[in-house]
Amino acid sequence: MKTSITGLHHITAISSDVRRNMQFYTQALGLRFVKKSVNQDDTGTYHLYYGDYAGSPGTILTFFPWAGMRRGRPGSGQSYATAFSVPAHSLPFWQQRFTTLKIESLPIEKRFDDDVLTFLDPDGLRLELVATKEVDSRPPAPSTEVPAEHAIRGFHGTTLGLIEASPTATVLTATMGYRLAAQSGHRTRYTVGLGGPGTYVNLLTDPTLPRGLDGAGTIHHVAFRVDDDAAQLASRAQIENDGLSVSPVIDRAYFKSIYYREPGGVLFEIATDQPGFAIDEPVETLGTKLSLPPHLERHRTAIEAGLPKIN
Ligand code: ZN
Repeated sequence: MKTSITGLHHITAISSDVRRNMQFYTQALGLRFVKKSVNQDDTGTYHLYYGDYAGSPGTILTFFPWAGMRRGRPGSGQSYATAFSVPAHSLPFWQQRFTTLKIESLPIEKRFDDDVLTFLDPDGLRLELVATKEVDSRPPAPSTEVPAEHAIRGFHGTTLGLIEASPTATVLTATMGYRLAAQSGHRTRYTVGLGGPGTYVNLLTDPTLPRGLDGAGTIHHVAFRVDDDAAQLASRAQIENDGLSVSPVIDRAYFKSIYYREPGGVLFEIATDQPGFAIDEPVETLGTKLSLPPHLERHRTAIEAGLPKIN
């Protein structure tokens, strides 16, 4: 039985200062702030979501911002880098922008035939812009600062840092329905479903990669998308059947989730496309109010009082 994963759903990272995080992703990168919520396991902490205009699956980078959180170190046993898709020929615009805004970036490199610009967020989170020659018909993230012709289209993919790739590759291919797309040096690329930007998982087995340490500037988990509840249950059955320990289905209000750790150490999630972020506020005003899941709504006053002001 093949699972019904169609690509990446969201990626969740850890940050420190919440305002700095908000400024970076909405202003510098031009993403839309699509949901202001709380960490359902720690309601004194925000859960912030950035993405395209509608908050579409495959575009959503989310953060748990913990003030004063010590920095982690991206490395093996983690999702090492998060790549966004931008149109071909737009990297000079971004390079110039990063220089102007004093954002740390590396020289452009060629990878799997595409130009890649690596840069760091204010907590040191490793990000990439992939100027892909592939068709990416997703609408550009709306921004008053970044012209649509250069704007981010959503995720390109995630790169997992690994000591050894084969156990993770087996889970991707045998359990999750991914297939090998390309191989180059220390990197192997996998894709799923219709393929293309928004689906890629790259496995990086560079022996010089340090052991990853959790903390600000690192990825907490990578979520894959399925259409609906039935597809999620099918995926869950396959994961369990293949001997991995997987959580029960958890209702996250905007999607339902299951979690499991792949053998390389990275926490994976499978999330449903339904019902989406417009369930509790209209698309036009996404992110403008504190959104709480129904079971936390009666604690709203206390929760709001315990959160720092951000906008
Ligand atoms: Zn998640």
